Amino acid sequence: MNFADSEVVGSILAVAGYGLTETIEEADFVLINTCAIRDNAEQRVRHRVRELRALQNRRAHLRVGILGCMAERLQDRLMAEEDNLSFVCGPDAYRRLPDLLRQVREGQKAAEVELSTTETYADIEPVRLGSNGITAYISIMRGCQNYCAYCVVPYTRGRERSRDPQTIVDEARTLFEQGYREVTLLGQNVNSYRWTVDGGSTVGFPELMDRVASISPLLRVRFATSHPKDLSDELLQVMASHPNICRCIHLPVQSGSDRMLKLMNRKYTVEWYLDRVAAIRRYLPDCSITTDVIAGFSTETEEDHQATLELFRTVRYDYAYMFKYSLREGTYAWRHLADDIDDAEKTRRLNEIIALQGQIALENNRQEVGREYEVLVEGESHRSKERLFGRNSQNKVLVFDRKDAVAGTYRRVRVTDCTAATLLGELV
Ligand code: SAH
Ligand code: SF4
Repeated sequence: MNFADSEVVGSILAVAGYGLTETIEEADFVLINTCAIRDNAEQRVRHRVRELRALQNRRAHLRVGILGCMAERLQDRLMAEEDNLSFVCGPDAYRRLPDLLRQVREGQKAAEVELSTTETYADIEPVRLGSNGITAYISIMRGCQNYCAYCVVPYTRGRERSRDPQTIVDEARTLFEQGYREVTLLGQNVNSYRWTVDGGSTVGFPELMDRVASISPLLRVRFATSHPKDLSDELLQVMASHPNICRCIHLPVQSGSDRMLKLMNRKYTVEWYLDRVAAIRRYLPDCSITTDVIAGFSTETEEDHQATLELFRTVRYDYAYMFKYSLREGTYAWRHLADDIDDAEKTRRLNEIIALQGQIALENNRQEVGREYEVLVEGESHRSKERLFGRNSQNKVLVFDRKDAVAGTYRRVRVTDCTAATLLGELV
């Protein structure tokens, strides 16, 4: 999501006459787009800001600013704490950036952190940063108001709002015409996407997906993230009717214990979640499922932790993002729940989940050996120029000998071997 936001910022600044530099040594401004979701994300940003001091000593006019959720969360406090910062700009204030940079050039410090209930940057055509020309992100909504007890997002990104579907379809079509072959539609909870057309009818996420997927059968469509409480059969039916909607659903579970889920304010139970997993498998038998999980949330017992491991054994995820609970100022948990699992214990539980998931991913991948997939070729493998990589519909990375394959085209690849993270294969 930050990646997509940086592309909007790039576009706003390009219109104002600013350009990107190839190397940081040539920059007059450095803008760091930030995440506030966990403390370690913030610490990395602070480290980066401090590192820039050396460059600022050599280039006296170089100004550094912070964009995104850390700017929103900390506002002026951040500039007081990191005295080499000249500006902060929150996620709904990017249209104000040209003004803000002008103030900074005049020697002032500046902060723009107002949140909006309507801003979606719908009319801005993002510049594609560091693009491979094949895959791109499209932001379809902003903000979140689910208020999961641990989560800072509703406070840093404001109220949920959806973007005009016509602008989304137009952006996807333009990308396709430029040669892109895959778009990922982004929102904190895409299942609650809703746009009211003049006259009163509404467009929901299934209809939006249908419209984007209808642009061309050669355009792959992905999306993230769907909240399990809102994953509907209607969406699964739309997916089943479009082979170019990718067979991969990211369904963050957070915990395998009903008591934890209630405390987290996730609004579903393990039984509900498993019912949604069963629905996915019913409509889309070849769909991969991935998740997010948090270890060591407030009052989590060994029994709760074991329930999470059990859920992982039941669902057998293809991939998981696994985190230690990090207390965030301003959240419900910060106000009302103790951060009472000590760090060593959080680490132990997290490591157990990581080890189990690694084993499951490897077992899942071993079953892939011998199967054939249509792969969208993306580019050279990191390890060798003789090999290319791409992904299948399930979002698994396949690496194979180059031969006559070209990036940006679809090729059939047979899986011959695997690791826990990658499938190795050969062109068919
Ligand atoms: N909107 C998405 C998640 C966005 S944040 C959803 O609800 O699924 C991405 C992930 O970060 C979350 O799914 C959660 O697993 C993790 N996360 C959020 N807040 C956290 C915190 N305070 N500590 C640890 N992990 C957290
Ligand atoms: Fe955070 Fe919950 Fe919103 Fe996801 S749905 S962004 S976890 S509050």
